[in-house]
Amino acid sequence: MKIEVVTIGDELLLGYTIDTNAAHIARALAAEGVEIVRRTTCGDTAQSIASAVSEALDRAGAVITTGGLGPTSDDLTKPAIAAVFGREMVLDEEHLAWMEERWRTRFQRTMPVSNRQQALLPAGATKLTNHHGSAPGIWLEDERGRWVAMLPGVPREMRGMLADTLLPLVRERAGSGGRVVRSCTLRTTGIGESHIADLIGAIEGGVGDVGLAYLPNADGTDLRLTVRDVGADDADVLLSEAASRLRSVVADYTYGEDAADLASVVLELCRSAGVTVAVAESCTGGLLGARLTEIPGSSDVVNGGVIAYANAVKTSMLGVSPETLAEHGAVSEPVARAMATGVRRAVDAGAAMAITGVAGPGGGSEVKPVGTVWIALDFRGSVEARRYNFVGDRGEIRHRAAQAALEMLRRRLLSS
Ligand code: ATP
Ligand code: MG
Repeated sequence: MKIEVVTIGDELLLGYTIDTNAAHIARALAAEGVEIVRRTTCGDTAQSIASAVSEALDRAGAVITTGGLGPTSDDLTKPAIAAVFGREMVLDEEHLAWMEERWRTRFQRTMPVSNRQQALLPAGATKLTNHHGSAPGIWLEDERGRWVAMLPGVPREMRGMLADTLLPLVRERAGSGGRVVRSCTLRTTGIGESHIADLIGAIEGGVGDVGLAYLPNADGTDLRLTVRDVGADDADVLLSEAASRLRSVVADYTYGEDAADLASVVLELCRSAGVTVAVAESCTGGLLGARLTEIPGSSDVVNGGVIAYANAVKTSMLGVSPETLAEHGAVSEPVARAMATGVRRAVDAGAAMAITGVAGPGGGSEVKPVGTVWIALDFRGSVEARRYNFVGDRGEIRHRAAQAALEMLRRRLLSS
């Protein structure tokens, strides 16, 4: 079965709202083995909705829309699509009564007149229950079995209705024989994508009959494996075989799978090793501490830290000597090392990460261009440090620096 998705809304076209609905629907349907063959976005006019939907119907015969089901005047999805099917709009008395009752009991008010519009449905339509809001979804089908399912625009409502009501219907129609599209992602860091490509190129037989995508981002490079149109059990076997082939060459750089977060991984390793953590941050200004403390339960591992932005703070709070600062500059190996040791002692932790660098856009020089970052790790008194040259804007450089510090600690914990 082929399905097209049409997302409706001027805010999507203007770029003020990111179209997360289309992405969510595509993933949810792929997991059912149903292919989204095309996605279209159109504005809030009856004409553009009608032409987007009728073209999609002509191509695929099955269309899911989101948006424009609400009570406001920019919500034209239902009448526009009713017109495509040549249907009248009729008042659904049952739904009207339900809405009026809901306003009375939930909001202790009479329902605004504009909400009556929500009880108008194309003749012959089936309602899709909405457990998370008041606008029902609509299923409309013609004599030839071509159908359009209209879901609300509000992401939370859309997701609920898709899972509760629409997916079971699509599953029934598709009868895909249990065939699925499934993915698995290895998250790597500290290695560039071309270096990974070389390593993977050397695997005999490659990763098997599985799609492989390189997805570089500020955390590192994610490697996504995808199998299509196979049975669910086969999919799992194929993916895990392919993942272990990949791991045979990138295991050192892989910190987790799918949505794994390096800070969580590091916290867990610290917890089982009984190591407490401290941070001393210059150019990241607390980002590393935030990454760690964002995770619930981090308090048993994270002792604390110092945002040592000014040199005076590096000296007074962390004991970095003014001579070292004067001789080597704030962005230097000796300063990074002294910051790590200083903060480890100050907050009495087992391990301390320190970051000092040039995040830009200003402040770079020929010898220390923007992106130069020194990271040091004092692990129970033994100190290591490394210079990085990160690319990207200020935000990316800061993010990459925090990620690299976490990776340094992860590797240390694994080797101890
Ligand atoms: P309502 O009853 O609130 O009017 P609706 O079904 O008419 O719901 P819209 O008015 O189109 O939906 O959108 C409601 C909100 O949902 C928008 O403000 C927008 O932020 C969000 N939204 C709409 N479409 C999408 C989309 N494709 N992806 C992400 N968010 C969306
Ligand atoms: Mg609306």
